[in-house]
Amino acid sequence: IKARNGHGLCFFDPEMQQKIQQRVDLEADLRVALAEQQFCLYYQPQYTLQGEVLGAEALLRWQRPEHGLVSPGEFIAVAEACEIIVPLGQWVIRAACEQLALWQRDPRLQQLQLAVNVSARQFRQADFVPQVMDVVQATGVQPHLLKLELTESLVIEDVQGAIAKMQLLRAQGVHFSMDDFGTGHSSLTYLTQLPLQQLKIDQSFVRHLGTQHTDGVIVQTIIGMARNLGLDVIAEGVETPVQKDLLAAYGCEFFQGYLFSPPLPIAAFDALLKASVVR
Ligand code: C2E
Ligand code: CA
Ligand code: CA
Ligand code: CA
Repeated sequence: IKARNGHGLCFFDPEMQQKIQQRVDLEADLRVALAEQQFCLYYQPQYTLQGEVLGAEALLRWQRPEHGLVSPGEFIAVAEACEIIVPLGQWVIRAACEQLALWQRDPRLQQLQLAVNVSARQFRQADFVPQVMDVVQATGVQPHLLKLELTESLVIEDVQGAIAKMQLLRAQGVHFSMDDFGTGHSSLTYLTQLPLQQLKIDQSFVRHLGTQHTDGVIVQTIIGMARNLGLDVIAEGVETPVQKDLLAAYGCEFFQGYLFSPPLPIAAFDALLKASVVR
């Protein structure tokens, strides 16, 4: 049976039905995935200008049966929509801190920092702060080595609430980085109120460096702003030596991107650490 309305739209459009089914399957599989421990973290190194590794960003991956390794772009939005992001986000923070605790036992690696992405829904939970502190205490990691990456849109939802939560964690030593900086509705007014340590220049501004004059201007402005606010600044999505050299000339101190390394599974990341100078 095909039900049509006056505009020729098919309610039983097989393509549409397939999409709905895929979404239902994805949601069901996500619930199973958490229980069956199908998630893991990849680690993308972050570098100083001198080429030392100063830490990494933890990036979530899903080993989905019959689908292979799935990137967060394909499931984070659904995980957000059905709230699985809350327990999943908790799992990420725990797994990240457990890894930090392992590095901390190695004198050569004990100052490595780990950046962890936090979703809006996760951050909004009333018990977000005690949850993080519980994990920090249980794993025994130095809080200043944990860097939570927040986005501007997350903060904008409730600026005063965000400041309050950040201040509580900051008082315990946890660091904050503003992820994808420049893509949201940044307002200098609130930026100065946030207890941030770092701005992360979004890869969309890095991508055209050296080819489009305007992006150079934006990047220079962001770096100048970070300076004036006493924040450090890292660029993500650095893919070419030209991009890196321009960023460095503009005063960017830290770098992350395919030019240096893709995100790596833990064994490969540990091997990279062995072969690198660690700050
Ligand atoms: P993001 O936080 O902006 O992370 C950077 C993304 O850029 C990562 O994609 C990374 O693999 C990719 N990337 C790194 N270097 C380069 C480069 O040189 N060029 C280009 N074109 N891309 C590069 P990934 O791992 O697929 O993650 C996508 C997004 O998913 C992340 O964007 C972040 O918003 C989200 N995400 C990842 N892990 C988590 C997590 O544990 N929790 C939450 N809530 N979100 C996460
Ligand atoms: Ca990030
Ligand atoms: Ca980012
Ligand atoms: Ca991004």
